[in-house]
Amino acid sequence: MGINEKLLQKYAELIVRTGANVRRGQVVQLVISVELHAFAAMLMEACYQAGAKKVNVDWTYDMQSRLNYLYAEQETLAAVLPWEEAKMKQMTEDLPCRIYIASEDPDAMRGVDPEKLSAVARSRSTVLKPYRNAIEGKHQWVIAAYPSVKWAKKCFPELEDGEAVGRLWDAILKTVRVDEQTDPVEAWKKHTAFIEQKATWLNEQGFSSLRYRSANGTDFSVELIPGARWEGAGAVNSVNGAFYIPNMPTEEIFTSPAAGKCEGTLVAVKPLSWHSQLIEDFSITFENGRAVSCQAGKGQELLEKMIHMDEGAAMLGEVALVPKESPVNQCGFLFYETLFDENACCHCALGMGFKEVLPGGDDMTTEQAQACGINDSIIHVDFMVGADDLSIDGIRPDGTTVPVFRNGTWA
Ligand code: ZN
Repeated sequence: MGINEKLLQKYAELIVRTGANVRRGQVVQLVISVELHAFAAMLMEACYQAGAKKVNVDWTYDMQSRLNYLYAEQETLAAVLPWEEAKMKQMTEDLPCRIYIASEDPDAMRGVDPEKLSAVARSRSTVLKPYRNAIEGKHQWVIAAYPSVKWAKKCFPELEDGEAVGRLWDAILKTVRVDEQTDPVEAWKKHTAFIEQKATWLNEQGFSSLRYRSANGTDFSVELIPGARWEGAGAVNSVNGAFYIPNMPTEEIFTSPAAGKCEGTLVAVKPLSWHSQLIEDFSITFENGRAVSCQAGKGQELLEKMIHMDEGAAMLGEVALVPKESPVNQCGFLFYETLFDENACCHCALGMGFKEVLPGGDDMTTEQAQACGINDSIIHVDFMVGADDLSIDGIRPDGTTVPVFRNGTWA
């Protein structure tokens, strides 16, 4: 369907070797749609050839989730059954490589109450959090994408099915640097080295705050947590030292800012898709670190609902730097999938922060991380602020100002 076998093979191997970096003797857990059974087989084979001990597949299906959310009671969906908990417990022992293939219909949950979705996610994550914490930083994982017809049609409604899928394939392969001629593994080495170099520079600067300005009305400053690290591209499994790339594509360098310490207005430069609904032409104004007002040309009510989801939903959990030359941005359309859309340009996220940016953060409880300034919330929603003329200054603790971004790209 719109892609030749050889390219697909290249892509599968990239996901397994460079993304997850599956090592000899490791258990792999593959999460993939039943519609992609042929690609699943290709990935399984690549895992075994990389030395996997066992590949387990968790099959997903859009309609299964949709029908459950439409018809089953909230309490039923929220319950974590003993076998599910046992499976998570097994994961803390196996520390499997996890490969997740995103292919969902962006409209799969249309008509489902966002509060039902969030409430179910919240209560399930309360039960599963200890297990997630136990494997955090101790296993390799990667999310990559495969275009389904419904997803492609959402991006290109005017095209017929095959053409839409072909266009989405072209875009995906461009952003993950897979083509006929070049070796994607080499391309990724170069790409991750560039991102690491920028992250190292940011860490050396030790900025205490960032100041954002753009002609569209963005005028914003945010405090950073002393000692919190800027991270990007790759991560290292602390148990076996394996370098892996959690997101393919990835263009961002990110950190979690100090929760509750920002001022001013951020103007979005791209629409935001949240729970299958669009919020467009919007801005958010912060006072004392909290979103106090928002304006949206479309989706005002939804945006307000999002900001009021819980205590932490009105505060920032992430700031990320992405130059406007990003291949995702060059594609020039909305993917309706965070994996891509958040890699288009500079963004911030409302809600949950990342404790792993703190020294020793992997072993902290949520409460300990919060005490260090990391935000906590049931939501984590990225919105794009990287205007073509965006300038960002870094301010050092002694007050000196260093240009970080000019005209939407590295200064
Ligand atoms: Zn991000």
